[in-house]
Amino acid sequence: MLHDAIVIGGSYAGMAAALQLLRARRKVIVVDAGARRNRFASASHGFLGQDGVDPAEIARTAREQLMAYPTLTWLEGTATDAKRQGDGFAVTTANSELYRGKRLILATGVSDALPPLDGLAERWGSSVFHCPYCHGYELNEGRIGVIATSPDVLHHVVLSTEWGDVTLLLNGAFEPDADARAELAARGVTIEAGPIAGIEGHADVRLQDGRVLPFAGLFTATRNVPSTPLAETLGCELETTPFGIQIRTDESKQTTVRGAFACGDVARVPHSVSLAVGDGAMAGVHVHRSLVF
Ligand code: FAD
Ligand code: MG
Repeated sequence: MLHDAIVIGGSYAGMAAALQLLRARRKVIVVDAGARRNRFASASHGFLGQDGVDPAEIARTAREQLMAYPTLTWLEGTATDAKRQGDGFAVTTANSELYRGKRLILATGVSDALPPLDGLAERWGSSVFHCPYCHGYELNEGRIGVIATSPDVLHHVVLSTEWGDVTLLLNGAFEPDADARAELAARGVTIEAGPIAGIEGHADVRLQDGRVLPFAGLFTATRNVPSTPLAETLGCELETTPFGIQIRTDESKQTTVRGAFACGDVARVPHSVSLAVGDGAMAGVHVHRSLVF
């Protein structure tokens, strides 16, 4: 069957795009591998009307509402290939099934490359975070540690001082120059140069010299790249952002491959659930209009 649109990625952005198309009675297939980026967090903050709600619950409610539309096909699985076929697209899944669509929407999200520190990955989303807007408030203006991964951390550090008493943990990532040190001092930031041995307890940083620095929470900037190579395989141009790599789109969320759209974390910065939902809705409307006009 030829679908009007194939959506790869059925999280916030993909579902928001699908919803617009389903409400226009279009035939949509959503292929979703079920690995939302925020699956490590038990509360999602900052999304109007859903502040503090379990992110799985937000996704589950959205999916239930989508499933009520008869023109939706939902496929739990992984898309392994996407290519142009005639005027449309052909998508192959891991179990070797082939699906055809007039339009393609890539809403596959990004992956987070975490600093390889002992004890960090286990605390990702519970006491180690990337975004102070999402998780800063709950630290109750306590002690915040920001783990450096590159000189770009300075922006993150200055921003974090809005939410608590900040220590910049250099961990050998770079050496701040005199200007940077003066700026950090003016913002009341403590600099800790010692290399980190690991994270323990709630968010305690053990330094290699044996000292343990306790924090209410830790932030670290992760480098983000599209979670699948599908866009590249298809020939979509990518672009560099302050956070990593994303798929290039125009204002209608169309990629550089005509008929292929992209939305959510994989196609915009900064990243949040509400921005992914808004971006997905935008993509859905523009995909629909491209089918009409
Ligand atoms: P995602 O939610 O990442 O979903 C992408 C989907 O595509 C996944 O279901 C994945 O399995 C699927 N997929 C990928 N490749 C394929 C494929 N080849 N085939 C099929 N399916 C595929 N934001 C907030 O607003 N508030 C918060 O409190 C918050 N907390 C966060 C905490 C953590 C620890 C992290 C990492 C992020 C947090 N975020 C938060 C950011 C938020 O998670 C993202 O902005 C949001 O999930 C982006 O939605 P998305 O739909 O673009 O991508
Ligand atoms: Mg999505």
